[in-house]
Amino acid sequence: MPSMLTDLRSAATTVITDPSATTSYSRDQCLGVEAGVPAAVVLARSTDDVAATIATAGRHGVPVVARGSGSGLSGAANAVDGCIILDLGRMNHILDLDPIARTARVQPGVINGDLDLAARRHGLRYVPDPGSRAISSIGGNLATNAGGMCCAKYGVTGDHVMSITAVTGAGEIITTGASTRKNVVGLDLTRLLVGSEGTLAVFVEALVRLHPVPTAFATLAATFPDVGTAVDTVASWTSVSTPMAVELMDRTTVQAVNRLTRIGLDDDAGAVVLAQFDDADAAHAAELCASIATANGGEAYASDDPADGEAMMAARRAAYPALEAMGATLLDDVAVAPHRLPELVGAIESIARRTGVVIGTFGHVADGNLHPTIVYDPRESRARDAAMAAFHDILDATLALGGSVSGEHGVGSLKTSFVTRQVGAAEVALMHGIKRAFDPLGILNPGRAF
Ligand SMILES: Cc1cc2nc3c(=O)[nH]c(=O)nc-3n(C[C@H](O)[C@H](O)[C@H](O)COP(=O)(O)OP(=O)(O)OC[C@H]3O[C@@H](n4cnc5c(N)ncnc54)[C@H](O)[C@@H]3O)c2cc1C
Repeated sequence: MPSMLTDLRSAATTVITDPSATTSYSRDQCLGVEAGVPAAVVLARSTDDVAATIATAGRHGVPVVARGSGSGLSGAANAVDGCIILDLGRMNHILDLDPIARTARVQPGVINGDLDLAARRHGLRYVPDPGSRAISSIGGNLATNAGGMCCAKYGVTGDHVMSITAVTGAGEIITTGASTRKNVVGLDLTRLLVGSEGTLAVFVEALVRLHPVPTAFATLAATFPDVGTAVDTVASWTSVSTPMAVELMDRTTVQAVNRLTRIGLDDDAGAVVLAQFDDADAAHAAELCASIATANGGEAYASDDPADGEAMMAARRAAYPALEAMGATLLDDVAVAPHRLPELVGAIESIARRTGVVIGTFGHVADGNLHPTIVYDPRESRARDAAMAAFHDILDATLALGGSVSGEHGVGSLKTSFVTRQVGAAEVALMHGIKRAFDPLGILNPGRAF
């Protein structure tokens, strides 16, 4: 039998094995977990390339790690020692954009923001908007079920996909779902593939939904004396309006943003909340929520000028880079039922006080999904250990509140040890059974996600 690499070179179009080139494919954006060393990187250019790579890997019992843009935050695309990294970035064509059906058929390497731009030429938009939309791929977004700012109204990536074509670990090419608006035939395999983090199949095509560009738009910026008041106020907002985005930043994050940018938020504010509205009555909704904020002891400013709104949201987009500028970071991603947010915020604040680590908290407050971000000095091993301990304490506190250890970034290799605690052994056993059905040899991203 020829060696795996000989076999792979004759099967796939472009195979890279030079370690100086393959090293850059070893990890994603997560600092908190180890990464292995790949044996080879395949730059896939077609479904045939993907199928041939998976078949070769199966013959040699070698793991395959699918990779989009490598922007993930949970180590899900990190190399497993000796694996083949299957890079889908060159399969980046929009195959069809149908303004009447309001759908787009895309290859997995299409960048989220590029699809949105293409849709806007037809008066449409691609709604799912992770903060990484300028760099992350649709395949990666589907495989992590990425969220973003507009989930409060529009949901997550999985709510916008109708059909996925994928190569399973057994080498079969399947097309799940349907191109019809309604379809209830069989089990919903599309939903099963969404969020599977490359463990069940490698996506080679997807049919996604597009939405009309809204005609009205308004943005609200509000400051509050503390996070608790901010969270309570957001609950009042969502009972009288349907904001598309509601984003929170705590004092640590606000001060970091002010240090990094010239945006000039109120440095003394205990919390800043930014909200956007895109219903026909957007301006009225923003004014109404501004008056609720003021009545609750906050200060608020509303604008229906889109450029103004973009400038305000730039502060939120700067949150993570601003905290990163303070040191190494461990970015968490926890979700609770929105009414339990005050308890989660209290737990995070008490963990910061007890451990002495710096934690800046920001996130999608209307979804109950926060990103407490631990900042530490990477040169000090005690600081690193304290940061990791605080990270785990936040996950423990989330589980104690009946929450989820990942709202949108996924489990990857960062949080596998928490999965059984959250969902239970019986569900994890079912997940392994499903994996065996899709990937009988266990070659697709082994050890990740569950
Ligand atoms: C600055 C910044 C902001 C971010 N903001 C957000 C945010 O707001 N919301 C959010 O949810 N995430 C966010 N992320 C995280 C990340 O961008 C998302 O998880 C994104 O969906 C990953 O896409 P990717 O193309 O980079 O995938 P990768 O990181 O390459 O891969 C992620 C996972 O998907 C699998 N995968 C990739 N392509 C395929 C495919 N074709 N078939 C099967 N499996 C595949 C990989 O094996 C891996 O398990 C952010 C990241 C950064 C760096």
